[in-house]
Amino acid sequence: MLDPLPDLQRIFGFPDFRGVQRDVVDRVLAGERTLAVMPTGAGKSLCYQLPATMLEGTCVVVSPLIALMHDQLRAATAVGIRAATLTSVDTNREETIARFRAGELDLLYVAPERASNESFRNLLGQAKLSLFAIDEAHCVSEWGHDFRPDYRLLRPLLDSFPDVPRLALTATADAHTRADILDQLGLPKDGLIISGFDRPNIRYAISPRDNVNRQIADIVAKIPGPGIVYAQTRAATEKLAEALGRTGRPTRAYHAGLDPHIRAKNQADFVASEDMVICATVAFGMGIDKPDVRFVAHAGLPKSIEAYYQETGRAGRDGDPAIAHLFWGAEDFARARQRIGEVEPERQAGERTRLTALGGLVETAGCRRRILLKHFGEDRAEDCGNCDNCLGNVDAVDATETARKFLSA
Ligand code: ADP
Ligand code: MG
Repeated sequence: MLDPLPDLQRIFGFPDFRGVQRDVVDRVLAGERTLAVMPTGAGKSLCYQLPATMLEGTCVVVSPLIALMHDQLRAATAVGIRAATLTSVDTNREETIARFRAGELDLLYVAPERASNESFRNLLGQAKLSLFAIDEAHCVSEWGHDFRPDYRLLRPLLDSFPDVPRLALTATADAHTRADILDQLGLPKDGLIISGFDRPNIRYAISPRDNVNRQIADIVAKIPGPGIVYAQTRAATEKLAEALGRTGRPTRAYHAGLDPHIRAKNQADFVASEDMVICATVAFGMGIDKPDVRFVAHAGLPKSIEAYYQETGRAGRDGDPAIAHLFWGAEDFARARQRIGEVEPERQAGERTRLTALGGLVETAGCRRRILLKHFGEDRAEDCGNCDNCLGNVDAVDATETARKFLSA
């Protein structure tokens, strides 16, 4: 059996594996089909990048966003991994195809829609494949919070290479979604590896909304570090950015309607900044690796507990104290119910279950973290002591280390 540790240290420069990475890598190296469920920031990419450098042939990585692929490509290339993307925006496709055919690529990133493309399937048959890695695998499930019909095209492609191992990866999958991913991608039930979901340094707080701009300005005033504010509409992100900007903080807006150059610039400014607040729709965040985000505020209800966990999970990835504060109103639930009425009938039951679960988290007088972890299948006997309810609803922001340091400075 190959020992991956020397290669981890040599290629990535990390002293050791984190959490369940070693278990996942060992299964992949043994050729076993696997679903890895690991929280955001746990280091999922390494679980396929490392085997890709060790195994003969090319690892085909399926990823839902071109921007995400290009970030990954940059990071992989920076540590000397031979990687390329094959997307509609790449101008070097001929070169990439030639490198693939010559066996000169460890990683080939592609979008899911390529899977149904006959010539792409033929191409994959022309060189040795080491692994299929399916990133953000919850996109294959209608139960997941981010269903992408293109992911359903993957199964026939995977099945036409039955001897190539498969690794599916996701940060957010409740029991139902997990079972669905296994089923949809042809993975065995015992191929599931789940790591812990708790993010103990994030303080959760959930409050009814009154004047949300003021409520969020309060948080911004108390926490000097970088923050993300999620708003529900494009217009709301711009209004918030403007309102918060008047408090003297550097702010940016981010949504899919912005000119792509401005959007990319706003994102880059935020990633580089030590005090900026970015007001964004949920289009922002996937694949962004900024460790020192000190707060994530929601100006309205997220889509589901999974989405809430993923969005709040962008706070405090460096392990230092961080705040996740959600503001909601009854009208958010009314709007969500209305939206459910408009989706395909076969998805409505799932959506309703998800909304009910979210309602439970929002309305509880008990420990928020216990409810959150329970949702991901982790039973906690103890209250967390680090959410608004555990703290007796004292102002959750005032009580943080970050805020205290700032106020006494
Ligand atoms: P995920 O996809 O699970 O959200 P990433 O793969 O983007 O996470 O990794 C998050 C961060 O963790 C990256 O900066 C990565 O370099 C770092 N990382 C991954 N594995 C390790 C490790 N074993 N030791 C230290 N840092 C790691
Ligand atoms: Mg990832």
